[in-house]
Amino acid sequence: MLHETLKRIADEYGTARTETFEKNPLAHFIRHDAPRALSETLNQSDLLYSSGVGPAGRWALIPWIAALHPLVTTSAQFGYYVVYLFAEDMSVVYLSLQHATTELEAEFGTGKKRRDELARRAAVMRSRLSGDLGTMTLEAIDLRSDGAFATNYENGHACGVRYETASLPAETKLADDLREMIELYRTLIYRGGPDDLTSSDHTDADSTIKSITHIRQARLHYKLELSGSYAKKVKAVHGYVCQVCDFDFEKTYGEIGKGFIEAHHLVPVATLNPGHVATMNPRTDFAVLCSNCHRMVHKTNPPMTIDELKKLIE
Ligand SMILES: [Zn+2]
Ligand SMILES: [Zn+2]
Repeated sequence: MLHETLKRIADEYGTARTETFEKNPLAHFIRHDAPRALSETLNQSDLLYSSGVGPAGRWALIPWIAALHPLVTTSAQFGYYVVYLFAEDMSVVYLSLQHATTELEAEFGTGKKRRDELARRAAVMRSRLSGDLGTMTLEAIDLRSDGAFATNYENGHACGVRYETASLPAETKLADDLREMIELYRTLIYRGGPDDLTSSDHTDADSTIKSITHIRQARLHYKLELSGSYAKKVKAVHGYVCQVCDFDFEKTYGEIGKGFIEAHHLVPVATLNPGHVATMNPRTDFAVLCSNCHRMVHKTNPPMTIDELKKLIE
């Protein structure tokens, strides 16, 4: 599946690019079938899949197919993700752990400053994975293109594998590499991605959190809870009344308190294997708490259980 998918794109893209974009069968294939090839190979339901063939009806110079973890990104414009990137001449395809470019535009513009920032973040990601790279290498990528997109990808690349499209490995090797890369991606998420873990953050205010492991666990925990797509689902399932003290923001604050409550993840991150970020079932893995109760359950590490806190305030 992967082999067939990568090969078809490499074989047909050069010709397709000279044709009109609308209703082109290869464009359709890259949009719809290619992400499915990744999803079926990995069979990991917490990941999102995406692909790019061209912005606004024009062929992209560098087509791509990506797997994204919703804790750190929901689109290839933000955060970091795993992606197949084709060189412009289609001679090479890379499996790359990439930091997104677009999200940096607001702060760094579109020029050298942004390229430098991309490279800096990719270097932090690399240093967090050193010693665990396995099949992946730190070798720079060359997309054989003068386009700005290619340069950005080259700067945002942390580590990866290079395949000659004329001699693509067999399906099992491609699938093994992809699975290994996803494990590495999960490990990187656990370790903090490109984030500066020593900078001030709400986790640092908590005096019980001291070691780097605790900082990582706490940050991951907050990330889980603040991740928009999950928070929404959690609230839809559990409602808006604190499950410890029954506080209801709307009753006290009126209209501005309507729909306000905090999602709290119940599985102590400390018990999770770094390779497996967390289970995120809105019904069974989360509770909803008012802001006071939420701060209090986090006074201990691992956090108190809902029942322990309930007993405390009785
Ligand atoms: Zn409460
Ligand atoms: Zn929490």
